[in-house]
Amino acid sequence: MLKQDIREELLSLNMRATVPRVAILEIFRDEQRRKTDKAKLSGERPQAVHFSTDEMFKLLIGRKIDVGLATVYRVMQQFEEAGVLSSSRFDAERVTYELNEGRPHDHIVCSVCGRVDEFYDKAMIARQKAVADDLGYMLQNHQLALYGICSVCQSKMGAATVKGKTVKAPGGRPT
Ligand SMILES: [Zn+2]
Ligand SMILES: [Zn+2]
Repeated sequence: MLKQDIREELLSLNMRATVPRVAILEIFRDEQRRKTDKAKLSGERPQAVHFSTDEMFKLLIGRKIDVGLATVYRVMQQFEEAGVLSSSRFDAERVTYELNEGRPHDHIVCSVCGRVDEFYDKAMIARQKAVADDLGYMLQNHQLALYGICSVCQSKMGAATVKGKTVKAPGGRPT
């Protein structure tokens, strides 16, 4: 994505186009486009890219952008307040951000490598609404995360060691 387009997007949000803001939004847009193109080629459903503050910091360093972790943390929060990003908290230490495209979805998180995948399950969404209704709530928002071991980590560990082992989800009950 062109830097000029990013600058204009920031201006339309009444945000000054500082170097960290332009760089962070550019990375989100670039990585999102790359992932969407890749999914289209392999016929998979496109998913959002998800980055924690630490991951974004590393990507910025990789692009030789001189920025402190505290700034990255602040800019991600500013973007969330402006509605550009949305966040999910998967465990005590890690908040993950993605572009706020307004698509409802839930997440499954690898407890080993931290990989995040998205899914959309109509029946599950309907059940969540029904549960809120039963309890007399007007549902405004929801966040659901499943924890497991992704296929890449499973093959690294070898299926035999995974089977029969109790895996503890961060902050959750053992499965
Ligand atoms: Zn997501
Ligand atoms: Zn994994």
